[in-house]
Amino acid sequence: MTQFKAACVIGYPAQHSRSPLIHGHWLHTYGLQGAYMRETVAAEDLPQFIASLRARGYVGANITVPHKEAVFQLVQKPDEIATALHAVNTIWFEDGVLCGSNSDGLGFLKSLDHQTPGWRDGCNAALVLGAGGAARGIVYALLQAGVQQVHVYNRTIEKAHALHMQFGTAVQAISAEQLPQAYAQVQLIVNTTSIGMDGTSSPPHHFEACAPTTVVNDIVYTPLHTPFLHAAQQHSLRVAYGLDMLLYQATIGFEKWFGVVPEVTDEVRNLILADLGQGK
Ligand code: NAP
Repeated sequence: MTQFKAACVIGYPAQHSRSPLIHGHWLHTYGLQGAYMRETVAAEDLPQFIASLRARGYVGANITVPHKEAVFQLVQKPDEIATALHAVNTIWFEDGVLCGSNSDGLGFLKSLDHQTPGWRDGCNAALVLGAGGAARGIVYALLQAGVQQVHVYNRTIEKAHALHMQFGTAVQAISAEQLPQAYAQVQLIVNTTSIGMDGTSSPPHHFEACAPTTVVNDIVYTPLHTPFLHAAQQHSLRVAYGLDMLLYQATIGFEKWFGVVPEVTDEVRNLILADLGQGK
């Protein structure tokens, strides 16, 4: 009989998180003795909560909004990705030491590998729309994956400039006027803004300028079929949906806590889609 282990998602609020559904499904699928809980923790209670994580019976946790930066300061051993981003979304213990990482970027890359295989071939330049927390992890992951030039467009251009300052000349902030040219030049376009979550709006796009082999990804997963991806499909471009990033980033924590690399199957995809009230 395997040892019972528990993990949780820590947020404020934590109610919206789909992580309990995902990890609960995998615990059941792999017949593991374990649980995955929600923990709503206010900022003032966070240091004490993290310090008592083991005493509360947890082997680790996911960290969600708004605690990712604060928990980075609280872990004893952040890995390279967490150190680069100054934010963690996954924590676990190694020989009693609290470690932290950020699995968004790896989840993003794995999602593209699965949905649009071959996307890395000849991908020298990418366009990232948005410059929030998710964009930071994705820009870092793209540079790690060997993409040489990342153009970042954001409503608040100062935040795109901040990414340039953090990552150097490989990352350039661009204006709305430069967008058509960027659409024509890049091999990959990623929407990381929250535009599209209302099911009707879309970030600015110029898909008519794109090369026919351009890959278009929207990390928004509710709705799954965003207006942005719909417009890309109208131009016969290859598209990748946002749900797989959520699922692949979750595999990283699951392995750390429960010792099994879970498979991202249609079963787990459909479970989340049903919970979101959507069919694929
Ligand atoms: P965030 O840090 O709050 O950043 C939000 C971004 O969206 C900023 O660039 C912001 O621009 C832009 N934005 C929001 N409303 C806008 C509007 N009306 N017009 C123009 N720009 C607007 O959020 P985040 O954590 O990066 O998350 C962004 C989105 O990604 C969310 O929808 C989230 O659900 C999704 N996400 C998905 C995954 C996944 O696994 N698939 C993972 C993480 C996040 P300003 O800087 O100008 O405000």
